[in-house]
Amino acid sequence: MARYTGAVCRLCRRSGEKLMLKGSRCLGPKCAMERRTKPPGQQFGRRRRRVSDRGFQLREKQKARYTYGILERQFRRLFAQAQKQPGITGEDLLVLLERSLGNVVYRLGLADSRSQARQLVCHGHILLNGRKTDIPSCLVKEGDTIGWRESSTKTGYYAEVAKSITAKSVPGWLSLDKENLVGRVLSLPTPDEIGAKFEVKTIVEYYSR
Ligand code: SF4
Repeated sequence: MARYTGAVCRLCRRSGEKLMLKGSRCLGPKCAMERRTKPPGQQFGRRRRRVSDRGFQLREKQKARYTYGILERQFRRLFAQAQKQPGITGEDLLVLLERSLGNVVYRLGLADSRSQARQLVCHGHILLNGRKTDIPSCLVKEGDTIGWRESSTKTGYYAEVAKSITAKSVPGWLSLDKENLVGRVLSLPTPDEIGAKFEVKTIVEYYSR
């Protein structure tokens, strides 16, 4: 599946805030936002401009895309799916974003960042309900279990996760058996539990024009 392969810190600088795309590096002094707060690109002669409503809507939409590491086409598809659901479109979109297998692996603490979680899934290390699933955008549902392929439990990476997992906590809609590193979806997340850093209402406005 297509994905963004450019410099991710650039995306934070473009959005003007820390999107936490690089795991532990985001918490340290090496974070690009700690060192350079200006947007990427040539600064010479650049004047501060007022951001239009449309510009603000675009920025919120891009922030959501960058956060979950998905490209425009897939994002649009999720938005269309959210629109077909009976609830509030923005909230439904947020829940759909959060339900992707890659995101759930990240939320369970099995990876440091969403891109690392995505890689774990793509490389076939993760089992969904006991079956190998290498599609990170696959949506989980209530009652699903997320585990590891037998051979992956013998890797150095697994041993490292097993060591560091005791210090981590998982959101209320998930549970994790820290002995076996097996997660479970207890319920679908609510927008409050997700605590998004972008305004979903603004994203709906962006696509409603
Ligand atoms: Fe963003 Fe993390 Fe890079 Fe900092 S280190 S700019 S938070 S991706």
